[in-house]
Amino acid sequence: MPFRKKSAAPKKVSVPEKESAPVAAAPTEEEGGNSKNPELLRGFRDIMPEEQGRWNLVRDTVRKLAEAYSFDRIDLPILERADLFLRTLGKGTDVVEKEMYIFTDPSNRSVALRPEATASAARAYINHGMLDRPQPVKLWYLGPMFRHDRPQAGRYRQFYQAGFESFGAEEPIVDAQLVVIGMQIFKDLGLDVKVEINSIGTAECRKAYLAELVAYFRTHRAKLSEDDKRRLQKNPLRILDSKEEATRELLEGAPQILNWLDEKSKEHFMKVLEFVEEMDIPYSLNPYLVRGLDYYTHTVFEFVLAEDQGEVAQSALGGGGRYDGLVEVLGGRPTPACGFALGLERIVRALEAKGINPPEHPAPLVFFAQLGDAARRVGLKLYEEFRRSGIPVAEAFGKNALKAQLEAANRLNVPLTLILGQKEVLDGTIIIRDMESGAQEIVDVKKAVALVARKLQPVVLDKPADL
Ligand code: AMP
Repeated sequence: MPFRKKSAAPKKVSVPEKESAPVAAAPTEEEGGNSKNPELLRGFRDIMPEEQGRWNLVRDTVRKLAEAYSFDRIDLPILERADLFLRTLGKGTDVVEKEMYIFTDPSNRSVALRPEATASAARAYINHGMLDRPQPVKLWYLGPMFRHDRPQAGRYRQFYQAGFESFGAEEPIVDAQLVVIGMQIFKDLGLDVKVEINSIGTAECRKAYLAELVAYFRTHRAKLSEDDKRRLQKNPLRILDSKEEATRELLEGAPQILNWLDEKSKEHFMKVLEFVEEMDIPYSLNPYLVRGLDYYTHTVFEFVLAEDQGEVAQSALGGGGRYDGLVEVLGGRPTPACGFALGLERIVRALEAKGINPPEHPAPLVFFAQLGDAARRVGLKLYEEFRRSGIPVAEAFGKNALKAQLEAANRLNVPLTLILGQKEVLDGTIIIRDMESGAQEIVDVKKAVALVARKLQPVVLDKPADL
């Protein structure tokens, strides 16, 4: 049983951080950067040690819940044939048109850094003959995605997603349980999130709806931005999630997809909503929600912060939906499927805004101070003994003066410091110093671990069960 400190938050790790700072401060591509310092690519960032506590919390929560809901982890390559995404995400989508990191590799193949991982998961499902396994096949992943998007707060060119994909089941309960899983992740993280949900039916019922939608917007063409005019022509469904003020006003009078769903799509959607209601999940119907990519069918949903009113563009912490046609588009047998992906940067940002900042690792409870190489030799071994018994120890093996080492111990706020000098090495003893009272005790070095463990008992009593 590892020892843990009573307080949940570390006292010393509080380096202020601004997630958007590296993006804003980074030189523009045109400027080419500051020649004195190595350059960070625009839209890319380092996730610093002081942020890792929050990142660990998100990663651990996702993993725990993925396991609890019997999803199996899959690690997919970051680089794929570009064709995989070009075929599946859809012409006229922002991702394919503007945001793909696409290049020719040394073997003269067109490859792309993955902009998302659902297409890769579907490819893996086909490649590994997973349709012969008991269905549904439930996979989860976590890793970086790449989109050459316009960098701004909460939007990066390399960002992390955790995704859940369920292949081989068409029942509405699958869609609903995926919504439940996403919500449970947010609940466990302490974030107040609600779901926006819509159905975009099948490709067939969408066809008739799109004809109506295009006809409606043609009559208002003059009011549309160039971007929306282009969408109207290339991918009219995308006009529904336009951020343009004028378009959003026009949308109020536009035909709504829900009225164009065929009976089967309607029934599917009603069942999803029933299950979601049954689970008391706060949701709202959003008739304009379509999601950016072509492969979606039926249910689409997004997770948004309940208290986040502004920033329409960045409020989604994640999203997903059903994509019954994807496996077939990639050459597999028709396979119903549904999934979602969460944006880790946005979740970490929401945790930061709520002041949630767990320690990256347990704070040290003991500091080891040494004087001279003989003491270092004993110290190196002693360090291992403490580590094996689960007591986190800090050291400053690189320092020589005792004063400097005690200062380091003070900074770390440890309750106990062990001091080992030449004399103690010869005598087979060690000094245990109580950092609060300054009292020192000379003890047998062989008993050091047991004695320290006993002394730490009051510190680690009533420790939180799940740090
Ligand atoms: P999408 O499937 O594109 O909606 O992405 C799912 C989630 O990933 C979004 O809800 C965001 O939280 C996150 N995400 C998407 N693009 C970016 C980006 N460029 N930077 C950071 N997070 C992103």
